[in-house]
Amino acid sequence: MTVVFMHHDVIDASKAQRSGFYGAGAEVYKVTLARFREQIAGLAAAFPGKSPALEPGAPFALTFDDGGASATEVVAEVLAERGWKAHFFVVTGVLGMRGFVSVSGLRMLVGQGHTVGTHTVTHPRRLQVLPYAHIVREWQDSRERLSDLLGQSVHCGSVPGGYCSRAVRRAAAHAGLSLLLTSEPTIRRYESDGVAVRGRFAVSGRDPAESAVRLAQRAYARGMRALRWQALGVAKNALGPVYPAVREGLLRLRA
Ligand SMILES: [Zn+2]
Repeated sequence: MTVVFMHHDVIDASKAQRSGFYGAGAEVYKVTLARFREQIAGLAAAFPGKSPALEPGAPFALTFDDGGASATEVVAEVLAERGWKAHFFVVTGVLGMRGFVSVSGLRMLVGQGHTVGTHTVTHPRRLQVLPYAHIVREWQDSRERLSDLLGQSVHCGSVPGGYCSRAVRRAAAHAGLSLLLTSEPTIRRYESDGVAVRGRFAVSGRDPAESAVRLAQRAYARGMRALRWQALGVAKNALGPVYPAVREGLLRLRA
């Protein structure tokens, strides 16, 4: 089971840096560089040999919303130390503005193996209440702009504000997106209205680093238990009467 983390900006105090949106509660989601390093080191220690990915079997994935300048100035540098990859969801209407990544920064992220997705054109605070055609435009215009700039088809998006309605999902599919990330704190994945939907767990500046690590560990353990159970089911069907002995062996092997 993959826990998908939702970060925003990572602030390096020594750089007197501005990154991402400010006001309306945005500061809560800014994490200091020291805290971010602690989280990354904690995750690496808890899952030796594993890397973040949005794929089955990965214990966790890292996503960064809004496209603040810290994506390239801080986050990418920290991740490069471990060769880790992440998803960056950018607001195309503020691309290149003060405090936000530039077009060359975006290309650099893709060149480093990260995935870039859309976080709409204007970051409407309540996307779900807009007229349907307007929601489609937010997804479509940003997706096309990013695809043009990057020279590759952009297929994923994250929902600003995290409010995900049926219309938001349908509009995303309409605009050509196949994966949508929300802010619903769940590890559940589902397909709905033409897109795959994944929840995420917000990381705020107040969370101690251990809470992210513990969350990923719990979900991973749960996923392993589910896999073990499935494996036992397969063994039971295939092996009939010998099943109890094999079951013992499996449990010992996987414990
Ligand atoms: Zn956002």
